[in-house]
Amino acid sequence: MRKRLLCVLLAALCLLAACQKAPKLVEFSTFAMNTFMSFTFYGEGETENQRVQDQMNVTLRRLDSLFSVNNECGDVNQINRSEGQRVEVDAPTAELLSRSLELCELTGGALDITAYPAVKAWGFTQEEHRVPSPEELAELAGKIDYTAVGLEGEWVTLPAGMELDLGAVAKGYAGDQLDRIVRDAGISSALLNLGQSTIVAVGTKPDGTPWRIGVTDPAQTAGYFAIVELRDMAMGTSGGYQRYFEQDGVTYWHILNPKTAAPAHSGVASVTVVAPSALVCDGLSTALFVMGLEEGTQFWRDHRELEFEAIFVTEAGAIYHTAGLTDRFFLAEGYEDREVTVLE
Ligand code: AMP
Ligand code: MG
Repeated sequence: MRKRLLCVLLAALCLLAACQKAPKLVEFSTFAMNTFMSFTFYGEGETENQRVQDQMNVTLRRLDSLFSVNNECGDVNQINRSEGQRVEVDAPTAELLSRSLELCELTGGALDITAYPAVKAWGFTQEEHRVPSPEELAELAGKIDYTAVGLEGEWVTLPAGMELDLGAVAKGYAGDQLDRIVRDAGISSALLNLGQSTIVAVGTKPDGTPWRIGVTDPAQTAGYFAIVELRDMAMGTSGGYQRYFEQDGVTYWHILNPKTAAPAHSGVASVTVVAPSALVCDGLSTALFVMGLEEGTQFWRDHRELEFEAIFVTEAGAIYHTAGLTDRFFLAEGYEDREVTVLE
């Protein structure tokens, strides 16, 4: 009798311990980098979960202030006001600049982090939109040239008249940093949504199935046309629909062709990139949007070392994805009859 009681007690204790150990769902959201972000993770212990959440928030605030074009104390703002003088920057700025410049070079300048004078001239920063004249555009295009950025360790030089804009890469970099914080805390299930365009999936859902992420239909932005399954993978989308204005019946969007300083018209409406690194997703989705379907597909064939896959939606609504996504890409409800071309 006493033995049985002991067994029951032991079983109850085990159950209690298991309950306490079961990962707890943490959800929070914030506004950073000009966008609404939301985070979900499953972590053990309330104190530790709060610590992780705090560390994520502090990191986001710090990166936001370093990379913001408007924050006068931030590195990017100081570089942009440096009039050609060298500026000492914090380690994350140097790291992001170094990795972005590599992507600018790899993409042949389709990504160019010195596009800010043109972004400003179109009014995308202050939301006071205007269409610059052809002469102004030619002059602006002359001010876009990532090869003129000097980076030596943590010292940056930028010729007077030029300005940096890390808007195409900052959220991706932040995604990779948050990913590291979460993993270092031993968390193996998290979904980090850094705004409408950058997502990091850590591990799987707690039940072991992959995270399922919708890809926005550029023609019907309230819905998504596809679902991509992600495990330990990031995803980034660039689309004309994310920021644009209309004037005299013409739509002008925020992704510019660095060669012309005008909105990139390559025939695509959105490009989604899936890769282990959120920075690669962010930088490449912008670059592939500039390149378009054919050039972008060739870039994918030529750069397997970047370990990325891509989804293209053309302005006519045709859907393409690279071969590596075949087992992870599914048309969403209502889109089942759409034709999908697999790029080899
Ligand atoms: P994303 O939404 O990541 O594609 O980044 C677009 C943002 O990056 C724009 O709002 C601009 O601030 C900036 N940008 C626009 N065109 C380019 C380009 N070709 N290369 C780098 N940054 C760009
Ligand atoms: Mg980008």
